[in-house]
Amino acid sequence: MGTGKIGAHRAVTLSVVVPCYNERDGVAELHRRVSAVCLEQSRSYEIVLVIDGATDGTREAILELAKKDDHVVAIDLARNYGHQIALSAGLEFCRGERILILDADLQDPPELLGAMMAKMDEGFDVVYGQRVKRDGESWFKLASASMFYRLLGRMVDVEIAPDSGDFRLMSRRALDHLNAMPERYRFIRGMVSWIGLRQVAFPYERHRRFAGTTHYPLKKMVLLAVDAMTSFSIVPLRFASMLGMMFGLLGLVVLGYTLLEWSRGNVVPGWTSLAAIMLILGSVQLLVLGIFGEYLGRMYMETKRRPLYFVNEIVSRDQPAKDGDLPVHRLQEMAKRAARG
Ligand code: UDP
Ligand code: MG
Repeated sequence: MGTGKIGAHRAVTLSVVVPCYNERDGVAELHRRVSAVCLEQSRSYEIVLVIDGATDGTREAILELAKKDDHVVAIDLARNYGHQIALSAGLEFCRGERILILDADLQDPPELLGAMMAKMDEGFDVVYGQRVKRDGESWFKLASASMFYRLLGRMVDVEIAPDSGDFRLMSRRALDHLNAMPERYRFIRGMVSWIGLRQVAFPYERHRRFAGTTHYPLKKMVLLAVDAMTSFSIVPLRFASMLGMMFGLLGLVVLGYTLLEWSRGNVVPGWTSLAAIMLILGSVQLLVLGIFGEYLGRMYMETKRRPLYFVNEIVSRDQPAKDGDLPVHRLQEMAKRAARG
């Protein structure tokens, strides 16, 4: 393949971007299936595998692939940054005119690429997968996901399709818009939806994981849900003041009652009611403070303006090794300079 520097990006028609955590047992199969579908589309494709601080040998497996196959670009992140950041790294780095986002576990079949490309040919900028059936996921995951999407739908002003994950095909211009959004708390499917342009749902059946187990235990699912809500909506802040107003009104009513009873002379010991009121108010205040804290904490983190991630190395037969030592944002600066000069 070419000897071009990373900076002087060689044009690639198709990029497949895959964040990979501990996926050792799936990587080879992933590479085989993705290569096969890419070849049907174009000879100039790249498979961008982002190693998100894997600890189980995934890293070695991917680097091995990158050494053998010109089409593979391995981006080894400096540590585990989480799914959405790892994906962002791959998206910033990929060069394709069209970009497919895929999970490493093959739950979303890459074989749908052809049909998604055809859909995009109709003039769409984003073709996003929408799951009509999900194999091998617990009822709890299904129920919580469905509840989450319904709640999110009520709270936010952009439309985020229920049952869509990050599995989607994007045009270069849509991706450039996404890459221009610098926030740290990233809920990528929501951000893509927020962009606008022409987007269309692509119904498909989601399969079981090919190997390994989910990296989204309940805790991470809840965190993703909180990110989604706080980064797209200030409704929780209003919820806080509404609660405050409601309990304020309630307090006035109770105060009226207390004064009335006092004027009639039947003052009750009143410990129970006082305690109850204090408990309720106390909990509401804490809740409200907590919600404030969520936003405040995020503002604090955002104001640091740190890069989203650092890269340990980039391995690709297409690129000189020494560039691989630079973090991606440095490479991109170089790319911009090269494009200008
Ligand atoms: N992933 C990642 N970093 C993480 C956790 C997950 O890059 O910290 C990757 C993982 O390898 C997979 C994708 O993100 O390719 C989705 O993760 P997973 O399949 O565990 O999520 P689920 O499909 O169960 O929601
Ligand atoms: Mg999965």
